[in-house]
Amino acid sequence: MKKTLKSLCLLLPIFLSLFLISCGKNNNSTKNSVTDENLKIHYIDVGQGDSELIQVNGKNILIDAGTSDKRSLEYLKSIGITRLDYVIATHPHEDHIGSMDDVIINYDIGDFYAPKVTTTTKTYENMINALKSKSLKINVPKVGEKINIGNLVLTFLAPNSSKYDDLNNYSIVIKLEYGKTSFVFMGDAEGVSENEILAKQLDIQADVLKVGHHGSHSSTTQAFIDKVNPKYAVISCEKGNDYGHPHKETIDKLNNKNIKVFRTDMQGTIIATSNGENITFNVEPVDKKINVPGNELNKASSK
Ligand SMILES: [Zn+2]
Repeated sequence: MKKTLKSLCLLLPIFLSLFLISCGKNNNSTKNSVTDENLKIHYIDVGQGDSELIQVNGKNILIDAGTSDKRSLEYLKSIGITRLDYVIATHPHEDHIGSMDDVIINYDIGDFYAPKVTTTTKTYENMINALKSKSLKINVPKVGEKINIGNLVLTFLAPNSSKYDDLNNYSIVIKLEYGKTSFVFMGDAEGVSENEILAKQLDIQADVLKVGHHGSHSSTTQAFIDKVNPKYAVISCEKGNDYGHPHKETIDKLNNKNIKVFRTDMQGTIIATSNGENITFNVEPVDKKINVPGNELNKASSK
């Protein structure tokens, strides 16, 4: 009996060390991948507007806050968000910063980014007052500036000029890289801004394109979509919107390139997950046959 106990005592460290070696091996094999900590992007259904939440390494980044109907705030609350480490207001239109004052007031916020442009609207004033009440400053990002969060790299790619005729072109454009996967967020940047990005030869290639300006024909030029060359595209707009978004020109370009399209007007909130190697979505892409422009979708649904 004593002998068995003795040999057990001798064997135990061997077992333990084998166990530890095998654990160590696992750690080594995952060292260069990011499979254990996924990136999650919520393209929040805020009707005719824009709002995206990015979650990585326990940090939250919010791009835009939709219209003033507080849908983005309600979504953030519904999934238990308690802090927003970075908030980016792409440009001061109501469909992007409408609920921004509510978000600022309700959340603990790290850094706040917006382009260097002001408007005289009540919505903009509300956002500025909310920022003041929380003693938050506006950071104006420079093109090429990066934010690093663990394995995630966020790069600012626009605006590239200081003056534009259209407020949309002041939109902050962002590229996210997570392992081998990449995502571009356009705000409402139009052809003018896209051409500047192309002329500067900025790295705009991405797996997922959040289509500029809700799929309007004023954005997504052929040269630009060719350069981004995405596998997937996400369009944020409302079913039955007054603008007819997304426009036929944009839908045709996406369909012709066989890009898999997701739409908040047809599918609600779209959630993309990346493990650094592959991207998966919470829903299937819209069937090409029914991926029709906004005005045709309205006709079909009113029948
Ligand atoms: Zn917009």
